[in-house]
Amino acid sequence: MIQLYQPLSYMGLVYREIRQAMIDIEMMFDILTQNPEVEDRPGAKPLVVRQGRLRFENVFFHYDPRRPILNGVTFEAPAGKTLAIVGQSGAGKSTISRLIFRFYEPASGRITIDGQDIALVTQASLRAAIGIVPQDTVLFNDTIAYNIRYGRFEASEAEMKEAARLAQIDRFIELAPGGYEAQVGERGLKLSGGEKQRVAIARTLLKGPPILILDEATSALDSFTEREIQDALDRVAKGRTTLIIAHRLSTVVNADEIIVLDKGMIVERGSHAELLARNGVYAAMWSRQHDLRRAEETLRRAAIEE
Ligand code: ADP
Ligand code: MG
Repeated sequence: MIQLYQPLSYMGLVYREIRQAMIDIEMMFDILTQNPEVEDRPGAKPLVVRQGRLRFENVFFHYDPRRPILNGVTFEAPAGKTLAIVGQSGAGKSTISRLIFRFYEPASGRITIDGQDIALVTQASLRAAIGIVPQDTVLFNDTIAYNIRYGRFEASEAEMKEAARLAQIDRFIELAPGGYEAQVGERGLKLSGGEKQRVAIARTLLKGPPILILDEATSALDSFTEREIQDALDRVAKGRTTLIIAHRLSTVVNADEIIVLDKGMIVERGSHAELLARNGVYAAMWSRQHDLRRAEETLRRAAIEE
């Protein structure tokens, strides 16, 4: 709860966090009302996705002009390939996904999908082409079936169940009282972080978007659950242009290309092996996380043996 006797600066922080959480929720639900400054241009045409090639061309961005966030970011996610963006928290990674969804517009530079500037297409067509699995999945207080169907309401029962199976949440649902018609939320079925994440993956599978963004999709999970879910994510990513945003590097090892973002600039790029050989920022992040992971496993094993 917000405590009213806290100083105003603290209130500002809480407000920002709430706002941010709301943006993430809205992103997930494709609600079109946030940031009313971003509107369809007069005469905007629907996006036509052919292969799903995504490009950032010298993109600059700030939320506040006194504080630049992206400083000339250029990259390309080739059609059907996986591009990973890594970097410390606050580097601007999620900002990149918000710009792709066009919740904000670049100050300068362009973002294109198959050569079409996303600022010039309709927002509805843009958002229909993109699926996102966010860090914290928020489910509707409705049935599990509804929550999966949100990805594509016209989907058949069989398609919906197939998506659940691929996301490895089908067993869980079948064992729940009421099965697919079980209510989730406050007074219904409580799902763990990993289970919610798998519902989000099922939803995204059902949507079948040509472009997929996984924004720290497994960061809330322990490394055991993460490995379980990674399979489901690999399945979603297959054949789609995929942007993996990650703080934890174990999820990006197999990406076609990894870019390292630091203070809104790309400081390194290459495959996992190339970046390790370079012995720079990425290699340092990798060895740090490797040590952490080993410590975590040792602790877990000790806990099991107790
Ligand atoms: P990352 O995902 O790499 O952790 P973000 O892209 O979320 O980083 O944020 C980059 C920077 O922009 C951070 O310093 C963050 O505090 C700031 N920021 C993020 N969202 C907003 C916002 N809506 N308004 C103002 N500043 C923001
Ligand atoms: Mg982020």
